Amino acid sequence: MTLVQPHSGPPLQLRLARDLTRSIKRGHPWVYAEALRQLPPAPPGAPALLLDNKKGREIARGFYDPHSPLAFRVCTTAPGEKLNERWAQKRFERALALRRMLFDRRTTGFRMFNGEGDGLPGLVCDIYGDGAVLQLDGAGPSGFWHAPGIAEWLAQALPVKWVYERSRVEGTIVGHSWLGETPSAPVHFLENGVSFAVDVVRGQKTGFFLDQRDNRQKIREVAAGRRVLNGFGYTGGFSIYAGLGGARHVTTVDLAAPALAAAQANWALNDLPPAMHEAVAADAFEFLAEAAGQETFWDLVIVDPPSFAASQAAVPKAIAAYQKLIGAAAGVTAPDGLLAAASCSSHVGLEAFLRACEEGISLARRKATALYLGGQPADHPTPLALPEFRYLKFVLMRVE
Ligand code: SAH
Repeated sequence: MTLVQPHSGPPLQLRLARDLTRSIKRGHPWVYAEALRQLPPAPPGAPALLLDNKKGREIARGFYDPHSPLAFRVCTTAPGEKLNERWAQKRFERALALRRMLFDRRTTGFRMFNGEGDGLPGLVCDIYGDGAVLQLDGAGPSGFWHAPGIAEWLAQALPVKWVYERSRVEGTIVGHSWLGETPSAPVHFLENGVSFAVDVVRGQKTGFFLDQRDNRQKIREVAAGRRVLNGFGYTGGFSIYAGLGGARHVTTVDLAAPALAAAQANWALNDLPPAMHEAVAADAFEFLAEAAGQETFWDLVIVDPPSFAASQAAVPKAIAAYQKLIGAAAGVTAPDGLLAAASCSSHVGLEAFLRACEEGISLARRKATALYLGGQPADHPTPLALPEFRYLKFVLMRVE
């Protein structure tokens, strides 16, 4: 089993141009190209030693991509630790031990490897029932990790019969099967005992938003007896949990018709009454404006839009968009109803998002109290030193 790609010769040596030793020793795993003294030619994913800017002492080992702004990713800071099979096996087993601690047979859809958060830079793997979806974050990780060997490891560690890779190569998603057949039909899995079917080939991310698991659970806890609106509902994650939590009725809104068809199918998969769910293909902003015009209210409104800020420069616009959306959502929330707002923009921090919630609610001339703050679940671990990795914010509010 080969988990890392074989490279001949000694590792490259990369010299820092800045004093980043402290931050790297504290667990920050990234070095940008401008922080390196030189960018020697090498194939993406080539193993490299990182030397400090002072005496040229080794401070980390990892891999290198001369063409990426993220030129070096740290695999280890332990002096002398080699990036060999034993090293990779140990990291994989540690990741597996965490998931075994977290999940029983009621959850068969989870994130097995969360890249840097598991000490496995650029390597993401999601398990869906009897298969796995791999995602390598660019040419560096693709040149370092050995996907067919990883597929073999997964098949012996878990009840995995197929492994499908979906990686981004120069902006487009490229799919490849490393084990078994490429799933042609939706794949079934369980999450907290809730059934879902996922399209791992055409769906968003690796097919499902596993990162909202704990927040969906929260929605199940508060949904009893409520009329629920799930804007940006995708394949119905929050909707199904609300239904199982005893919601009176659930409306799922999304722009994408195929996602809504999947939401209907997921609703049925959990034996929920068809009459209690409505799927509406619409722009959520327009839907909310229209509902406000008709003075329609819901007792629980959920808005989980796609990222509004692709870069730091887009943050002011994104904040304005969150304010507008949360204001519109508060406008259709019944008195003392609940409003859940999520943001997956890593450039917008929790405090900034809470302020956007406050501003949005005030635009709707309402007040709110925060009942629960959520984020990514424990199978999405993040290095404390890498705040960029903690992108998900979830705020459940009661709106007066
Ligand atoms: N809450 C979902 C994930 C939402 S992802 C879950 O837990 O599974 C964001 C979704 O918003 C996508 O499905 C996308 O199709 C949808 N979307 C994007 N822009 C939209 C818009 N303007 N109106 C409605 N839906 C939109």
